[in-house]
Amino acid sequence: MSGKLFIVATPIGNLKDITLRALEILETVDWIACEDTRHSRRLLQHFGINKPLVSLHDHNEQHKKLELIAKLQAGEKGALISDAGTPLISDPGYHLVSYLRENDVAVEPVPGPSALVTALSAAGMPTDRFTFEGFLPAKEQKRLNALQILQNETRTMIFYESPHRLMDSLSSMASIFGVERKVTVAKELTKQFERFVSGNFEEVVEQFEMNSDWVRGEFVVIVSGDSGVVSEQEDYDGLVKILLSQNLPVKQISEIVGEFYSVPKKAVYQRVLSLK
Ligand code: SAM
Repeated sequence: MSGKLFIVATPIGNLKDITLRALEILETVDWIACEDTRHSRRLLQHFGINKPLVSLHDHNEQHKKLELIAKLQAGEKGALISDAGTPLISDPGYHLVSYLRENDVAVEPVPGPSALVTALSAAGMPTDRFTFEGFLPAKEQKRLNALQILQNETRTMIFYESPHRLMDSLSSMASIFGVERKVTVAKELTKQFERFVSGNFEEVVEQFEMNSDWVRGEFVVIVSGDSGVVSEQEDYDGLVKILLSQNLPVKQISEIVGEFYSVPKKAVYQRVLSLK
């Protein structure tokens, strides 16, 4: 008799968002695999659940999957949870689940909250077609390269972001998508300081600059897709390319183009870097 692994979503902030089914499954399994055992122990204690915890994170998943499949093949039932939201969504578990599927071990999802769908459902951005991009690279040039690939994406784009990278990412996005592109930043979803900040990139960045205490917590960034309308930025790309071909320094190009088109030099600077 083979066991089963349940993939159980947990709250992204508000503990009342746990589902009845999640509680039922977590109470009946033999063990629970989680990222951070101390963090998950507190969550489970809140619901009066006391089960053996197995730590499964990015660094031990390859080796732990062998141990877990052996338990499941012996008929045990287990659950996988992450620190918050739906496991495998920018969280560990992919290697384990694909390995279990390849080896015909049952895997059953127990759906619940995920920050990307929670943000999208209330952002007022087009929801008919969207793409989830997870976290952007931390290094500026890599981030710009990743965004460059999305420059003409017509679907709504969803990103995860941490507080210490939010402003840099918004600035890189503005340089690639243009300052007029619409964006919504959803902050601290389901928590006390939940907030949606919407507008074009220039307006949203300005609001965060004026309220520096907003740059705390967890964020989902939702960017509208390319509408096909030529932006001011695409207008100045031509001049940037000519000046780059003359081997002028990035700073000087940003100053010339910023002055000529009356656009913020910082936004042009990022754009020049991405076109370089
Ligand atoms: N598995 C989770 C899910 O289903 O959403 C995502 C885990 S990922 C490691 C953590 C990121 O999700 C955060 O950096 C943030 O971008 C986003 N996130 C998670 N909880 C959030 C919340 N309450 N408000 C806004 N963003 C959140």
